[in-house]
Amino acid sequence: MSVIRIVVFACCIFLISAMESGCVGLPPAVPAVAVKRTQLHMGTLVSVTAVALTHEDANRAINAGFMEIKRLEQLLSTWIPMSELSRVNAAAGVMPVPVSPETLTVVQRAMQAADMTGDGFNIAIGPAVDAWRVTESQRIPTESELEALRPLVDLQSVHVDVRAQTIYLEKSGMRIDVGGIGKGYAADQAVTAMKRAGAVAGVVALSGDIKTFGRLPGGKMFPVGIQHPRQEGAVLAWIDLQDEAISTAGDYERFFERDGVRYHHILDPRTLQPARACQSVTVIAKEGVWADGLDTGIFVMGPERGMELVEQLPDVEAIIVGHDGRVFLSSGLKARIRFPSDSDAKGHAQ
Ligand code: ADP
Ligand code: MG
Repeated sequence: MSVIRIVVFACCIFLISAMESGCVGLPPAVPAVAVKRTQLHMGTLVSVTAVALTHEDANRAINAGFMEIKRLEQLLSTWIPMSELSRVNAAAGVMPVPVSPETLTVVQRAMQAADMTGDGFNIAIGPAVDAWRVTESQRIPTESELEALRPLVDLQSVHVDVRAQTIYLEKSGMRIDVGGIGKGYAADQAVTAMKRAGAVAGVVALSGDIKTFGRLPGGKMFPVGIQHPRQEGAVLAWIDLQDEAISTAGDYERFFERDGVRYHHILDPRTLQPARACQSVTVIAKEGVWADGLDTGIFVMGPERGMELVEQLPDVEAIIVGHDGRVFLSSGLKARIRFPSDSDAKGHAQ
């Protein structure tokens, strides 16, 4: 979740103060304004910043971004009983359910992310996620309880029919959960809507799932700070983004501790227990849907196999903090990432 403390946040403060005192400039000397607004959607704080030629354009773009996110929430949220995914889940073991192209796309991408991550990413995880309900109940399910759910966490039984535009869950009791990929997809779609509405640059941040487009007034890229997984409020590293998405999966955002063991919300589909190989995984990709889907899947794979995958994928980079605090950087990030001052960096790397 809000793993990445977007410094876009800080930038926004800069942008907004510039706006308050008049206009900020877009190169070459084109007057532009930047506006940022925050609302609650998809169970999280969503910040949308638009850079445009007029306040009217910026506000129109922000409205378009939020409207798109609200629209997708109505399709994808499993907290909304009549959402498309809730209807797919309710019809598990009974019949295929017709869905919109957007729902079909998210589920298809999720199946691709599963393929790429050796099923580390698994949207059929729904029943296990419910059994844990990490933040709400702080309850540890018994092994036999999890064993009974195991046959339901089965991607082979998720049938996506692109022709008929339907999704069918073969076994009664199955539930798909796009919590690990949906916010990244929503960020992509919101950016498309904002561009269409006239924004020249901006940021959509659904908590830690962030998509940027264009550059800041003045020509700088968007600086983003990556949260340190074991030092609350501390930045592990900084990176500048342009037309890229960044997403982090971490074991520190939603968790509880019992007898010295940390229980968190990213589950290993094989054990149905919280995944243990990483503290955090940050992925940078062109599209939010990949950044978000891959961060969760790589968290399950662990640093070694995860980094091997990242190195094979064009335009995908990652910074992974292993279970022991070791920091792994993909080759394409080495020249781009900045750690805080040397002394801080030592502390950060643990
Ligand atoms: P967030 O940004 O909300 O923390 P993440 O990208 O870290 O989301 O994904 C975590 C969410 O994904 C969980 O809350 C759960 O809904 C779902 N999830 C948990 N484990 C898996 C898994 N192995 N594969 C796919 N989705 C998962
Ligand atoms: Mg994710």
